Amino acid sequence: MERTLVNTTIKTAKSQEIFTAAQNLMPGGVSSPVRAFKSVGGQPIVFDRVNGAYIWDVDNNQYIDYVGTWGPAICGHAHPEVIAALHGALEKGTSFGAPSLLENILAEMVIDAVKSVEMVRFVNSGTEACMAVLRLMRAFTGRDKIIKFEGCYHGHADMFLVKAGSGVATLGLPDSPGVPKSATVNTLTAPFNDLEAVLALFEQNRDEIAGVILEPIVGNAGFIAPDAGFLEGLREITHEHGALLVFDEVMTGFRIAYGGAQEKFGIIPDLTTLGKVIGGGLPVGAYGGRRDIMSMIAPAGPVYQAGTLSGNPLAMTAGIKTLELLQKSGNYEYLDKITKKLTDGLLKIAQETGHAACGGQISAMFGLFFTQGPVHNYEDAKKSDTPKFGRFHRGMLERGIYLAPSQFEAGFTSLAHTEEDIDRTLEAARDVMSGL
Ligand SMILES: *Cc1c(COP(=O)(O)O)cnc(C)c1O
Repeated sequence: MERTLVNTTIKTAKSQEIFTAAQNLMPGGVSSPVRAFKSVGGQPIVFDRVNGAYIWDVDNNQYIDYVGTWGPAICGHAHPEVIAALHGALEKGTSFGAPSLLENILAEMVIDAVKSVEMVRFVNSGTEACMAVLRLMRAFTGRDKIIKFEGCYHGHADMFLVKAGSGVATLGLPDSPGVPKSATVNTLTAPFNDLEAVLALFEQNRDEIAGVILEPIVGNAGFIAPDAGFLEGLREITHEHGALLVFDEVMTGFRIAYGGAQEKFGIIPDLTTLGKVIGGGLPVGAYGGRRDIMSMIAPAGPVYQAGTLSGNPLAMTAGIKTLELLQKSGNYEYLDKITKKLTDGLLKIAQETGHAACGGQISAMFGLFFTQGPVHNYEDAKKSDTPKFGRFHRGMLERGIYLAPSQFEAGFTSLAHTEEDIDRTLEAARDVMSGL
């Protein structure tokens, strides 16, 4: 493979031309907001192709990729075995809208891997999975209120688009125009890693809270790990109050460990949402959990949820092959090793070049904040020097390193990343941070 990585004066004429045209065709020129690079400045590069740990833009610049299509590409982009399996599946058609053996196979793999999951329902995105799980939480408990955490993202459904106010915890106000207040009055928020705030909410809303939903490791406010005892505390509090604990493992599932964050931390939630990795790069989401709760889903039970393309054979095939590849022993040790090398290196370079920074990683998920830290929640994360992150991002891009275009997104490594890729990345980081 041709390597032309350290080029500080990349040409992006074609990217610019295509993105300029896109802005007339689609709001902001994109199909999902963060892709527009608004929070780091400059223009996004337009992708042409992806392979392994690399992406190529339409001007034929090559980059080492730490976004991995926002998580799914944990085996590396366009893994030959996934592509081959998809070729095979394509021959049989693209959608059935009917039961298929492939669904059983992936369902069994998910149930075997993820401790909390005794039954699973496939959907088409993480957003859908979280919407459905919320309805199920409410139906099962007969309660309407839920608790989410500030900075946690559970897709773009109305009920989750809530910004927490200042203070310990407040009733949710909608985060976006178009979300009616009535959609979020039952969404209570607390700061991540704050058990006291959660306890207070349960006391103020006795027998009214259906459950607590969270990213067990936050990735959507930058990378924030749970403090020791936080997940355990949530498990206890929800038990005591007859409420459900839901782990949104759309990002962490099959990434933190084969069995997700719940395996890593040994905490078993009642319900779990999944997505990203389990689709192997095709559109998939899933939710699952205790059999008695999942049995309430139609047509087994009265809670309605459906999908024309749900469980479609291409997505199931990519998911099955991706999980098979992940089962090889040593994979997660490798991911942890290279990712630790990356974050240790970045923090060391930041220190040596005089930048306040903190960050960390667990397995193949990482983050770096330009603030002294420590970062325990979104309030802490927001102290980051975001203009500096923007300059860092641009400098890295110019040196062939593609990082998530926001201070508040986690980074991802894959099995395709080599030690040499990490070395090249750190070399670029030293160069950029020296001039920041
Ligand atoms: C990405 C993500 C979602 C939303 O999934 P989509 O497939 O983008 O709809 C939900 N929750 C978490 C934790 C995520 O990271």
